[in-house]
Amino acid sequence: MLRLTNNFNYKICEKGHLIYSHSGPVSDKFCNICGKSFVTECAGCATPLKSTFESPVNAINGEPTIYPNIPGACTNCGFVFPWTNKPTEGSTMSYDEALGKIKKICSRFHNVVKQLRQRYNDRETIEIEDEYDVQDVLHSLLKIEFDDIRTEEWAPSYAGGAARVDFLVKPHMILIEVKKTRKGLTSKKLGDQLIEDIARYKQIDGVQSLVCFIYDPEERIQNSSGLITDLESLDKEMDISVIITPNT
Ligand SMILES: [Zn+2]
Ligand SMILES: [Zn+2]
Repeated sequence: MLRLTNNFNYKICEKGHLIYSHSGPVSDKFCNICGKSFVTECAGCATPLKSTFESPVNAINGEPTIYPNIPGACTNCGFVFPWTNKPTEGSTMSYDEALGKIKKICSRFHNVVKQLRQRYNDRETIEIEDEYDVQDVLHSLLKIEFDDIRTEEWAPSYAGGAARVDFLVKPHMILIEVKKTRKGLTSKKLGDQLIEDIARYKQIDGVQSLVCFIYDPEERIQNSSGLITDLESLDKEMDISVIITPNT
């Protein structure tokens, strides 16, 4: 005899992912989607969040068919939960919006470069030859959305050296690291460089997010999705996004 409904235990991670278990409390320590910690009580008033729900089950695989609503804020004290989109202090944009805009600019970068080559009557244009050229064009594009873009912030010294960060988008505290592929800079070397950079950047106060923008105009990177997965899953405390264009 099939059971028609079941009780599920669940937890919500800082990003708002709902992770459930079929029997007993969720034993995972971190979210299996994003790697963030779980929120089990309101940070404002310590009221525990709901952790069980009942749902009719799919007769074939036993999975729930109805999921609980994830509240945006605490009904007891009004505290807004971390997964709820709210503007960053000092900005009209939320962190998620800001990150989305940065990713969009990076992923459209090659289209912009191609367009810049098309000058009226073959007039002079900016040629993208090295990392500095990429940085300058990216900086201009970021100005469309962001007022406060810091350059040359220095990471604390780590393993004997300080690291220059290409851009810090305040007030969202999103770091952007720019790379351009070239002959001799293999995927392996590029990955190793970024792993070192990530270790350094983690130590900068208040920074939780890093966007690694890899401009690969000659499509030298063979396995871009592998590189993206490896780097994005590297660190649980930092939100790492890797954008390789025009490959992805
Ligand atoms: Zn998550
Ligand atoms: Zn509360």
